[in-house]
Amino acid sequence: MSAETLEFKAELKQLLHLITHSLYSDREIFLRELVSNASDAIAKVQYDSVNKEDQLEGNRDWKIKITPNAEAKTLTISDNGIGMSRDEAIDHLGTIAKSGTKAFLKAIQQKQQGDTPGLIGQFGVGFYSAYMVADTVTVHTRPTGGSQLGVKWASDGQGQFTVEDAPKETRGTDVILHLKEDAQEFLDPYRLKGLIRKFSDFVEHPIVMDETEEKDGTKTTTEVTVNNRRAVWLRSKNEVKPEEYEEFYKQISHDHEPPAKVLHFAVEGKTEFKALAFIPAHRPFNMDWEEQKGGLRLYAQRVLIMDRCEDVLPSYLRFVTGVVDAADLPLNVSRELLQQNPLLETIKKNVTKQVLSGLEALKNTEYEKYVAFYQGLGPVLKEGLARDWTNKDKVADLLLFESMNTEAGKYTTLADYVEKMPEGQPQIFFLTGETTAQLRNSPYLESFRAKGYDVLLLTDPVDEFAIPQYGAYKGKSLQAADRGDVKETGGDIPQETTDQFANLLNAVKMKLSDVADVKLTTRLTDSAACLVASAGGMNANMERLMRKFGQ
Ligand code: ADP
Ligand code: MG
Repeated sequence: MSAETLEFKAELKQLLHLITHSLYSDREIFLRELVSNASDAIAKVQYDSVNKEDQLEGNRDWKIKITPNAEAKTLTISDNGIGMSRDEAIDHLGTIAKSGTKAFLKAIQQKQQGDTPGLIGQFGVGFYSAYMVADTVTVHTRPTGGSQLGVKWASDGQGQFTVEDAPKETRGTDVILHLKEDAQEFLDPYRLKGLIRKFSDFVEHPIVMDETEEKDGTKTTTEVTVNNRRAVWLRSKNEVKPEEYEEFYKQISHDHEPPAKVLHFAVEGKTEFKALAFIPAHRPFNMDWEEQKGGLRLYAQRVLIMDRCEDVLPSYLRFVTGVVDAADLPLNVSRELLQQNPLLETIKKNVTKQVLSGLEALKNTEYEKYVAFYQGLGPVLKEGLARDWTNKDKVADLLLFESMNTEAGKYTTLADYVEKMPEGQPQIFFLTGETTAQLRNSPYLESFRAKGYDVLLLTDPVDEFAIPQYGAYKGKSLQAADRGDVKETGGDIPQETTDQFANLLNAVKMKLSDVADVKLTTRLTDSAACLVASAGGMNANMERLMRKFGQ
């Protein structure tokens, strides 16, 4: 038989089921999808009516209205956007994975006139998420041009739909969901308001609901706007007042102090996104008693995709809060699919770079503020030494250390330390322990002091892991001062001296059976003896930590 080309057949019912049940992690996002479509519809008619005001038929009080009807068990999402003609309804709602919005954008780009409106939809499946909560969906819609253009589209999402002419007074679309028995919770105004604030708080157009108040037997109904609308991050930096940043920070971080630093930036080019990130002034209160996962809020054109996206921020920066808004992110996908999106990796790289240079700027220009930040969050930041191969040197530059030569409570940096190293000092020395006060009295410091070498005093548990993993700063290896492999500072010990003390060393070794070896050393100047960890073994502080963690 000759070769032939055939079309795939799709079992429509199954396909719809798949879309509505596997594409989304939570069914509550149906509201986000329908509100996003309504918002797109408004943006389209706004764009289309530029210089053609009469097209709007006087209907330009832009809004998206959510109306639950407990008796009819319906939930209606209405907009006064662009609406659909009969053909458009058939085409856009009747073709799965066909996005009228994407086509609209393409058409604009070809014309190249005016500013492109920010539209959300592009995948052509969001609408079907309605079937997660509804048995039947009726769409009553009409474009500009008079009530006789109205059409009603209806489907139970099982593979067929009906369309009929149905006059409609106003331009725009009503999407009417006949809620499933187990989805009646979406009639509850509180639940609906919660969802609007969660996912659609920053949608540009007002999302309104009717509120009825009863006073002295008379009922009055008012329309209230539920969403906040002002997406600070989308505005240009020099238009936003410091108070506005602060207010937004408090809202998303639950911190009542202003942030130490605000980072507001846009990345353009192949990957485009806007970001607004905050560095807290102090250690967040919840960091000590709950495992903080960190992450940023991820938006696509003002619509929330994920409230804690860990894939856009490394874990050692988990104290940073903020938002990332990337227009090109698919709105309607599950978390699992989103994680594989390469865009996230690019965002993470950029955000990390910005946060690290933001911290560097804070250190250089507002040192006091930086110290306050560092005292609470330095230990978290230090994890980056071991975990972020690309940026570990930038992280190292941000570290503050007390040292043998600083006053108590004052700090040096690695750069400072290296700068002040006397000629011939081979390594950067550090000593780990519980408190700097204790460390300052350590006999290990004696020979270093005699030599004029400084020793960093480290007291964070993370130092024990992060510093050795980091290895070397500006070519100088970091060396624990209490390890066996420290280069002897007082020169070699002559053989005859060793012979002279052999009996004593043996006697001490017999007495101290837990000690692996007893050696003569030149590292002490005032004390008679000290304990030293073997080169590869655990030092005293490490053993203390292991005991603390019950190892
Ligand atoms: P997407 O939003 O990704 O394009 P959807 O499945 O959510 O896909 O919607 C399919 C299409 O139906 C949209 O692209 C749009 O053309 C049309 N549509 C949906 N809702 C509305 C609405 N409220 N007003 C006008 N057109 C709409
Ligand atoms: Mg959509």
